[in-house]
Amino acid sequence: MGGCKNMTLESVYKKGRELLSEAGIPDSDFDSLYLLEHFFGADRTALILHGEREADEGICERFFSAVEERKTGKPLQYIVGKWNFMGYDFLVGEGVLIPRDDTEIVVETAIGYLKNIKNPKVIDLCSGSGAIAVSIAKMFPDSEVTALEYSDTAVGYLEKNIKLNGAENVRVFRGDVTRCSESFEDESFDLVISNPPYIQSDEIDTLQVELQFEPRMALDGGDDGLYFYRIITEKWAAKVKKGGMLAYEVGEEQFEPVAGMVEAQGFCDVKYSLDLQGFKRTVSGVRTEE
Ligand code: GLN
Repeated sequence: MGGCKNMTLESVYKKGRELLSEAGIPDSDFDSLYLLEHFFGADRTALILHGEREADEGICERFFSAVEERKTGKPLQYIVGKWNFMGYDFLVGEGVLIPRDDTEIVVETAIGYLKNIKNPKVIDLCSGSGAIAVSIAKMFPDSEVTALEYSDTAVGYLEKNIKLNGAENVRVFRGDVTRCSESFEDESFDLVISNPPYIQSDEIDTLQVELQFEPRMALDGGDDGLYFYRIITEKWAAKVKKGGMLAYEVGEEQFEPVAGMVEAQGFCDVKYSLDLQGFKRTVSGVRTEE
């Protein structure tokens, strides 16, 4: 990159912001500040108090090479290699879906239900980085959580995230959600929870550049985006205990069709929660029949 000689922290931050903004990165201010904190350990307060301090040259070079990566559209989360979800840190990188704020909504639905249950048994289908499984396991130390994931790369992150967070009550099951419900023959769960791939196949390429860096396998919900809801609802409904809950994250406009599937399997009290933008982001239902 060059030009790192005699730069102050503030000039590093401003230059980062300018380069990102020129490259059309929408949240250039946030991203530059985030990278500054990541590399220099300097947040906005430090910038205000010590902005005129000279920036270490080696760290400065690393900061600007991260800016160059970000300019290509690569998500900030992959560049820094971790992201916070529900107050816990998760390691992420190419090959695993980045945990989203929206997904915290389905975890909150689960919390509301699990707080009244002793030693709950939970299974998180399409677990990815383990954001849902690990945060539930941490918040409910008496729970037994199974994290089911198909991709080897994602399983690698999942295992690291279990260790990173000391979530000893999570067990990993590597398998295909569309096939392996039979492997849980004698088991039933208080909560079956999932954020499956739900974007329509032909929409993915039209979405923002950051998404193109994420694994298609974690995004692609088939022609109508509903493929996994159909299969999971059909194959896993019987694994929910009487009085237990099935909870999904869904995409915009997917509440009605998914709620219909869940009701058709005999679940009642089928509800949604709204995300911060006002979209129906979850579907949950309670099983009444054996
Ligand atoms: N929430 C993601 C997005 O729209 C999609 C994740 C998923 O398919 N489960 O960016």
